[in-house]
Amino acid sequence: MAQTSAATETTDRTTAPTTHYDAIIIGAGMSGMYQLFRLRQLGLRVLVLEAGTGVGGTWYWNRYPGARFDSESYSYAYSFSPELLAEWDWGEHFAGQPETLRYLNHVADRFDLRRDIQFRSRVASAHYQDAARRWDITLEDGTCFAARFMITAIGPLSAPTMPLIPRVDNFKGQSFHTARWPHEPVDLAGKRIAVIGTGATGIQTIQEVAKTAGHLTVFQRTPNWCAPLLNAKISAEEMVQIRAGYPQMFQRCQETFACFLHTPDPRGTFEVSDAEREAFWEKRYAEPGFGIWQGNFRDILTDRKANAALSDFVARKIRQRVKDQIVADKLIPKNHGFGTRRVPLETKYYEVYNQDNVTLVDLLATPIERITPSGIKTSDAEYAFDIIIYATGFDAVTGSFDRIDIRGAGGQWLKDKWKHGPATYLGVMVNGFPNMMMLIGPHTALGNIPRSIEYNVDWVTGLMRHARDHALTRLEATEAGVASWTDHVKSLGVGLLSNEVDSWMTGVNRNVEGKQVRIINRYSGSAPDYRAKCDAVAAKGYEEVAQA
Ligand SMILES: Cc1cc2nc3c(=O)[nH]c(=O)nc-3n(C[C@H](O)[C@H](O)[C@H](O)COP(=O)(O)OP(=O)(O)OC[C@H]3O[C@@H](n4cnc5c(N)ncnc54)[C@H](O)[C@@H]3O)c2cc1C
Repeated sequence: MAQTSAATETTDRTTAPTTHYDAIIIGAGMSGMYQLFRLRQLGLRVLVLEAGTGVGGTWYWNRYPGARFDSESYSYAYSFSPELLAEWDWGEHFAGQPETLRYLNHVADRFDLRRDIQFRSRVASAHYQDAARRWDITLEDGTCFAARFMITAIGPLSAPTMPLIPRVDNFKGQSFHTARWPHEPVDLAGKRIAVIGTGATGIQTIQEVAKTAGHLTVFQRTPNWCAPLLNAKISAEEMVQIRAGYPQMFQRCQETFACFLHTPDPRGTFEVSDAEREAFWEKRYAEPGFGIWQGNFRDILTDRKANAALSDFVARKIRQRVKDQIVADKLIPKNHGFGTRRVPLETKYYEVYNQDNVTLVDLLATPIERITPSGIKTSDAEYAFDIIIYATGFDAVTGSFDRIDIRGAGGQWLKDKWKHGPATYLGVMVNGFPNMMMLIGPHTALGNIPRSIEYNVDWVTGLMRHARDHALTRLEATEAGVASWTDHVKSLGVGLLSNEVDSWMTGVNRNVEGKQVRIINRYSGSAPDYRAKCDAVAAKGYEEVAQA
C-alpha cells in the first residue's frame, strides 16, 4: 500500500466494522495474553487479534535450532498467579523454545484465554474515528473490528528483517529466516549450511547447527561480545527449592536495575587491585547467565577505560578458546565495547570454530555480492549450499508499529509522527493517538522483559479501570506530557556507552530503509525509577492524560 503523509488523510472511514469491543489487543505473546487476563477481570469485552496460529509470540515464531532463554526460566516466567507458580516445573535453568512454548500454551489453557483470541489475524491498519471515539481495526483480509480502546502488544522483537542482499529469491535450496522457522522438523544432518548473521539468534543457531552439519559456513559482518550461558537441568529437588524462593526472587527482580537477578557491584572497576579485578571477572565469567553484564562493576557501561579493560578480559577468553588466532581475532568486536549491546549468551560457541566442519567468512573483508541459485557469492569466492539460514534479526521496537498503518486523530500517521524517533508518554501513550496504549513499546523499561510486561499491563489495567469507573471514553496523552517524558528518556541516555553504538537498542538496522540514524528508542533508567514515575502519575489521577 502506498503510504502518504497523514496530514492529507480524511479522518473517518466509511467501511462499517463488523463487531464492537471495549478493547482490542493486538498480539498474543506474553504481553497480550496477560493483558487479556486482566481486562477480563474488569468485566470488559475484549478481543485479541494475533497473526500466528497459536499463542506465545516470540516463542511461537522463533523455532530455530538452539532457540532458548538468556533470562533464567523462573525469573522470566509470569509471577501474577500463585497457582501457576505452584504447578509449573521448569526443566532447565535457561529453557529452550519448545519448553517455553509449552509453558505459554499451558497458561493459555489454564486461564481459558483462547476463547477471546482470534488467530491467523494480521492487523493491517488501525484508524481512530474521532467522532465515534473508537478504533477501527482492519485485518489483511479486510475484516474490520471496532473498539473503544486499542492496546498494542506487538512485540519489541517481532518484525523480522531480511538482509539487503540482491537476488535472495534466486536460491534453489531451502532457506529460512530464524524467526519464521517451519513448524515441521528441518533435516540439517550432513548438509552444507550457511548462517548469515552473528547476533544473539545467529550464535544460538550456529552452536546447534554445527553439531550435525556436513559443513557450516558462518557469514559474519559484526562480531558480538558473548559470555557463557552455563545452562543446566533442574532436578526435582532443586525445583522445590526454587519454588520456595519465589517470593524473594521476584522481590529481587523488582529491586534490580533491569529486573534481572543480578545486581551491579557497587565498586568502580579501578577501585580494586589488578588481582582482585581479574579474580572478580574470572568468577563472573564462570557463572551462569547475565552476571558478567548486569552484575559487574558499577561503571563498566559508563566509563570508557573500565569498559575497555573488561573488553580486553573477554577478548583474552576468546583467544584462549579459539585455536586459530586469525579466526579468534575476527571474532573479537572492534567497533563496540563489551555490554554496550545486549550480550548474547553462548554454549561452546567459540569452540565451534575449532571444528573441521565450520568456516568463518568475514563480510567486512569479503562482502556478499548476491545469492545465487546454488548458494552465496562474496567478493572473492562462490559457495554452494543445501540450506541458507538468515539470522538477520528484527526491525526492533518500532518495526512492528511501522508494519501497521496506524492513523490517529485527524488521520495523522504514526510512522510520520515518529520519523525522527518515537515520542511517547511513559512509553505507553502517544499524543494525537487517543485511546491507544502500548505494551513494551518504545521508551518503556525492557531488561528482563516479562517483569516489565507485568508492570506495563497492570498500569494499563489501572487506567482502564479508571476509565470504566469514571465513564471516560477518550484518553489522550497531552503534548506537554509527551514532551517532558521524551526529554526525560533522552536525558537518561546521556553518558551511556551503549548509546554511542549502532544496535537494535539505538534503532539502527542497516537492512531497513530510514533506520540508519541512532535514536533513543528505549528507557535506559532503572526499572524501579520507571515504576515510581508511572505509579506517581496514576496516583495523581493520571496526570498529563487528557480525559473526557
Ligand atoms: C529469540 C529471542 C529470545 C529472547 N530471549 C529473551 C530472554 O531470555 N529474556 C527476555 O527478557 N527477553 C527475551 N526476548 C525478548 C522477547 O521478545 C520478550 O521477552 C517477550 O517475549 C515479548 O513479549 P510480547 O508479548 O511483548 O511480544 P512478542 O512475544 O513478540 O509477541 C508479539 C505478538 O504480536 C503479534 N503481532 C505483531 N504484529 C501483529 C499484527 N500486525 N497483527 C496481529 N498480530 C501481530 C506477533 O505475531 C506476536 O505473536 C527474546 C526475543 C527473541 C526474539
